[in-house]
Amino acid sequence: MHRFHYVGQNLHCESVDLATVAQLYGTPTYVYSLGTIADNYSRLAKSLAGLDAQICFAMKANSNLALLKHFANLGAGFDLVSGGEIRRVIAAGAEVKKSVFAGVGKTEAEIQLALESGVFSFHVESEPELARIDHVAGKLGVKASIAIRVNPDVDARTHAKITTGKSDNKFGIPLKYAPAAYDAAAKFKNIVVRGVQIHIGSQLTEIAPFVEAVEKIAPFAAELKAKHGITYFSIGGGIGIVYRDALASGQQGWWDAQPAETRPITPEAYGAALVPLLKPLGLKILLEPGRFMVGNAGVLLARVEYLKRGHGKNFLILDAGFNDLVRPAMYESYHEILPVYRDTTRRALKADIVGPICESGDCFAKDRQIQELGEGEYVAFMSAGAYGSTMASRYNSRALPAEVVVNGSIFELATVRENFEATIAAERVPGFLR
Ligand SMILES: *Cc1c(COP(=O)(O)O)cnc(C)c1O
Repeated sequence: MHRFHYVGQNLHCESVDLATVAQLYGTPTYVYSLGTIADNYSRLAKSLAGLDAQICFAMKANSNLALLKHFANLGAGFDLVSGGEIRRVIAAGAEVKKSVFAGVGKTEAEIQLALESGVFSFHVESEPELARIDHVAGKLGVKASIAIRVNPDVDARTHAKITTGKSDNKFGIPLKYAPAAYDAAAKFKNIVVRGVQIHIGSQLTEIAPFVEAVEKIAPFAAELKAKHGITYFSIGGGIGIVYRDALASGQQGWWDAQPAETRPITPEAYGAALVPLLKPLGLKILLEPGRFMVGNAGVLLARVEYLKRGHGKNFLILDAGFNDLVRPAMYESYHEILPVYRDTTRRALKADIVGPICESGDCFAKDRQIQELGEGEYVAFMSAGAYGSTMASRYNSRALPAEVVVNGSIFELATVRENFEATIAAERVPGFLR
């Protein structure tokens, strides 16, 4: 469920007309529905009733400060993957103490920052990392809590670039070597063994791989509880969202009306499958959803620059490019693209919907059916709230997009569109070239 819908002919986010937002702040602009995020959060939290659960929003999906503060207000911690993300949480006025620090390449400086910020736990990906965390903690005179990321070797059946739980991925330690890694961890003076962690991939559309992974790891988690006194099990993120039929998916009852085999994962089904497996462990359960929390809560607004009628092919050329939304180019992913002003009396257009960037890969959709649109009209990329703005770049010397948050009928700029001076502020022409 999400809160994007047409009111008459005009696409709205909650009670705000998206054309108004586009006119006021220009395009390309990301727009986020805070109400949808709150719904997603509470639905997932409710589905875990009976567990001592903590949701840690995987902020690499969307790290806008306004959203971070919203999540903190909802009670979430964060799944952090860099020093920059730790600083963002602090800059948003939120606390780091419910958060976990993940990632395969933590530097000494990042480990120090995490410890000084009071991070809940480190999710460790290798044995050399244990030694480094121990060293930094010792230097600071503190103890570092850790969980080791265990690779359960299950196939998440998702896109190759976002599957992480197979043994040939760079992530985690294979289950058969994990006991030795825990024994090694327990010997470090400045490390407290506190949990176990898994994360098998992103955009999963089936429950079965989650169940398989938890079933594989649960006996080991019980062993660790007995042997090392661990107190938590982090089951990672990865819950998929609806990209096709994105508008319809916002309607009450839509989920249940889908044929069982194509029905997306609902938080209710996820909870129903996992709670019975997790509850007997008597451990605190951490979840690290990223995409599920924000994916359907955001759209990217773009303006039509040209309709180029080609020979046997039409191109709808937008002012947004793959530097603004890279998912179609990078993961071959599908986004619903809707007219902000819908006019069913117009003729249908079949076109490649593309950006202005000088690469053929700058194509959002091939041969897409959309109503005929002309210069100056707006479109919305649906389900663009996750891995959208956080993956934006300045390629082609384009400024980073603006971001707007909506709460009911209130909306406000959350990221000012970058101006040209800001895009070159860090660059210098050396003296010897002058
Ligand atoms: C990326 C990531 C997540 C979030 O994944 P989603 O698919 O966005 O839910 C959670 N945990 C870890 C360790 C990650 O790397």
